[in-house]
Amino acid sequence: MKKMEKLLLKEFKAGKMMRMMLLGGAVLFVFLTTQVFGTLYNSVQENVRQQAIDSVTNISELNAESIKQTIEERQNLIEALAIQLGDRPHSERQVYLDQMKVYAEIYRFRRLGLLFREDDKLMLYMTNGGTVDATGSYPYEQAWGANPFLSESYFPLEGGTYTVNMFSYPVIKHGPQGEQRIHCVVVGLVPSWQMASRMNVSSIKGDSRTFLMNSSGRAVVRPRLYEDIGYKAMNDFIATEPTIHPRDQRDGYFDYDSQTWYVYYVPLELNDWFLMTCVPERSVFASADIILHRVLVGMGILWIMAAAGMLAISFVMYRSQRMLIRTSFYDELTGIGTGSVLPILLRTMRKAEYDKIYVVIFDVDKFKEFNYIYGEEQGDELLRYIVHATQQALPDEYLFRYLSDYFVILLHADDDDEVRRKMDRLVARFVQDAENGITPPFDISAGIQKPQPGVSLRRTIGDALTARRMVKGLQVQQYAFYDEDVREKRVNDLEMESDFSRALRENEFRVYYQPKYDMSSGHIIGAEALTRWVKQDGTIISPGAFIPCFEATRQIIRLDEAVLEQVCRDMKSMEDEGLPVKPVAVNLSRVHLRHHGILDKIETIIRESGVDPRKLSFEITESALYEDSQRLKKIVDALHDMGCTVDMDDYGVGMSSANALAANRFDMVKLDKSFVDDISDQRMAEVIRSTISLSKALGMEILAEGVEQKSQADTLVDWGCTRAQGFYYSPPVTAEKYRALLRAEKSDDAPNA
Ligand code: C2E
Ligand code: MG
Ligand code: MG
Repeated sequence: MKKMEKLLLKEFKAGKMMRMMLLGGAVLFVFLTTQVFGTLYNSVQENVRQQAIDSVTNISELNAESIKQTIEERQNLIEALAIQLGDRPHSERQVYLDQMKVYAEIYRFRRLGLLFREDDKLMLYMTNGGTVDATGSYPYEQAWGANPFLSESYFPLEGGTYTVNMFSYPVIKHGPQGEQRIHCVVVGLVPSWQMASRMNVSSIKGDSRTFLMNSSGRAVVRPRLYEDIGYKAMNDFIATEPTIHPRDQRDGYFDYDSQTWYVYYVPLELNDWFLMTCVPERSVFASADIILHRVLVGMGILWIMAAAGMLAISFVMYRSQRMLIRTSFYDELTGIGTGSVLPILLRTMRKAEYDKIYVVIFDVDKFKEFNYIYGEEQGDELLRYIVHATQQALPDEYLFRYLSDYFVILLHADDDDEVRRKMDRLVARFVQDAENGITPPFDISAGIQKPQPGVSLRRTIGDALTARRMVKGLQVQQYAFYDEDVREKRVNDLEMESDFSRALRENEFRVYYQPKYDMSSGHIIGAEALTRWVKQDGTIISPGAFIPCFEATRQIIRLDEAVLEQVCRDMKSMEDEGLPVKPVAVNLSRVHLRHHGILDKIETIIRESGVDPRKLSFEITESALYEDSQRLKKIVDALHDMGCTVDMDDYGVGMSSANALAANRFDMVKLDKSFVDDISDQRMAEVIRSTISLSKALGMEILAEGVEQKSQADTLVDWGCTRAQGFYYSPPVTAEKYRALLRAEKSDDAPNA
């Protein structure tokens, strides 16, 4: 079932196309959103980067300004000291130094001192009382003439663990002629780390670091805390001869500790110094990252929603497709596939599987009667039961509901014997379940045909149906293969069909009469018209051989009309001969129930023949009751209105029931031969007796058909049935012979008359 459904879904090209379109739409959607978000992403990134760089630039410039101010403050102090000393008339070194000591403490110089050129030496006298020979020391030599001067970091002469920066300003003395000479130089030493910490203005969330360096990229003020990753990075960057050079470039990037750092230089307008600001790139773009992250999350959510939407739509589509398939390819009552799935399944079947397939078609014998007797609900129940039981008995086979009570099985089998085994298993299951009371008893008739190369499925099923007809109604055999016999019968049927018109024209259909008798008096009370096909070579074909065939082709309608015409003619001529004309019964096929012109035609024939309609009766077979009870009632009533009588034929062949008798105003019930055959059976005797009394109670005459023995006749008379028809009295005879019988009756009667 699932397999079949999958196959059908696959066959559903339209659904596939819809899905493809949906997928295409989704791809387009993803493409467009990616495009839009990509553009957005880039512009946000660009924007944020610019903003971040702008803020680094601004902060750097502000820092540079404040550092410059810090430095200038100290420089101004040194300068003020130098000018003060220069203005003094005496130049007592120790006095100066003592005064300067106070400044050193207040302004947090490590040392303040005075530099003197004495002979060839450059001597530094410090406020702590120490004296150092600074001859040839680069910063001191530079400081001697410079006005003012700030040195780069260096290790102080008296030894130290950290570097210092030197501020200096020369003390100028004026000679008597107003000439100027350098008397000494005021020197202030500041620990570099102290300078650096002044500069360490935290910005960019505290991640940025500033450095002072000269134009050749050397650090001129060194911080002490190298453990700080930021300073280490900068220091290492500086140590490796920076590729980003303040002379040529205001900014750039360098890598350190698997991070990228952003460098920005601001010229300090002091010596050739620059303020260098370093920020990890990650910090610069942190805010951008947050925005972009949000954008990404937004996009993700949109995609997920789109995907969910698509999933939902395709799910709904799949469901509706399945619904569609279920309603168009599945039978609502039983839940199995209908006949329309068959060609699809066979078309898509693998060859190896196809080669082993047999087509079995079966139906329930007299299903209409079953419905009539047990009710339609029970009928539906039976169909559901058949599906259930078949699926259990033959679990690996495909089962379809072909039409009303017709089912098709695609049976897998290597040969005919395997098919027989499987069919026997199925039939056994049905029989057993009926015996156990799970279902009322029923029979099936199945026809089997193996699909032949180049033969359409329709033909194959048609052949299987033909084979099925062979066993239809035979309780002893439930299935037949389409074989030589069937084919022969089929050919025969076809021949009969095609021969019908000619045979009718050439009067090959002869009406025989079987008299009906009053058993107690032995007199003829009427006759039944029975058709024989008398071929030109003299062979006589009985109606059992051709009537089912003509019923299938509906040629029976023409035949019955012809029979009625012939009967009317015969009756007329008998009347003309002065014979005592007895009522004649004409059989009406069940096919007439579905043929609407029947009543008018009968009326016309009777009227034109001039026969008294009261002398005509019509036999309608019991099983016709189950076909269309409304229509049947209309026909019975109309025939009564014409003045004819109507008899129920073959009572007891079908699943006769009392309400079948009660439902219609029949004039006579014809007890079927099969009842009469079993008359000696105790239980059957009861059935017959009660049927007789029931018919009488309902105001209907009763006639026993197929009475062959005196004993049967006697028993029937004992039970109150006085009318009979059968070989014991007379077989069907030609019109000639029937006339003779009537004539004999007349002459019998004559003396008494
Ligand atoms: P039916 O109407 O039930 O006719 C009775 C059948 O039982 C006849 O068979 C008759 O020959 C046979 N019969 C009568 N008494 C005995 C007997 O004692 N023993 C045996 N073994 N058989 C007996 P027949 O003539 O072969 O007709 C068969 C059926 O064909 C008829 O059954 C009727 O249903 C149908 N039929 C015959 N002629 C016509 C016709 O012109 N039109 C239609 N629509 N059906 C016809
Ligand atoms: Mg009959
Ligand atoms: Mg009959």
